[in-house]
Amino acid sequence: MADKMRLDRFLVEMDMGTRSEIKEAAKKGRIRVNGEVVKKTDGKIDPEVDQVTFDTRLIEYASFEYYMLNKPQGVVSATNDNVHKTVIALLEDRKRNDLFPVGRLDLDTEGLLLITNDGDLAHQLLSPRKHVDKVYYAEVDGMLPEDAAEQFAAGITLSDGTETMPAQLKILNKTLDTAEIELTIHEGKFHQVKRMFEALECQVVYLKRMSMGPLKLDTGLEVGEYRELTEEELYQLRNIKNVERES
Ligand code: URA
Repeated sequence: MADKMRLDRFLVEMDMGTRSEIKEAAKKGRIRVNGEVVKKTDGKIDPEVDQVTFDTRLIEYASFEYYMLNKPQGVVSATNDNVHKTVIALLEDRKRNDLFPVGRLDLDTEGLLLITNDGDLAHQLLSPRKHVDKVYYAEVDGMLPEDAAEQFAAGITLSDGTETMPAQLKILNKTLDTAEIELTIHEGKFHQVKRMFEALECQVVYLKRMSMGPLKLDTGLEVGEYRELTEEELYQLRNIKNVERES
């Protein structure tokens, strides 16, 4: 049985409005608990047992949510933004109001983004000490040096003098002045992939994240589409956490 919680907190967490909006809705008789109209929202409910409806909609409880999004370009990896649509706004089926993206992809980067409200899991995945692998597909303009893979494997010195950790470069296709590559990095510095290529006088013109640790972008998800993680994916993500913790 879940801990009891205040009705207004439950409805705020399930993204039904602000506390004052919910109070107003209750006064108008729009909220019911187990079929009974409830006009005051400071009473406690058991979110896993009590049936709460808002107008006629049954509000299901979720303590944690985990979504995989194939992020499109032009959408910002943030919870709020004054200019651009956020990745959270794309999740129309979300239940909770406290979801956030685990790490950031640039505005013009596509691909795998995990969105959750599980702060502990996010922290484990983002911790610089964990070195969770991130695999990117990129299209690059410029003359990629012959020894680019060796340079990436040795670690790259960025323009501000920062040294990156060794990274694995796989060249998928190459012409004189363009390349398609796959790059695996083990950290998450700001604009890292773009800056690594800039250090080699090349420019990333298209970037897509393919995986993060054991989590792989579902090839069935079109750009802009999302789905909940499977039990298996969640188990694998939690497991890296456990393995790392023991080491
Ligand atoms: N590296 C970048 O340069 N941009 C991203 O969005 C992710 C990694």
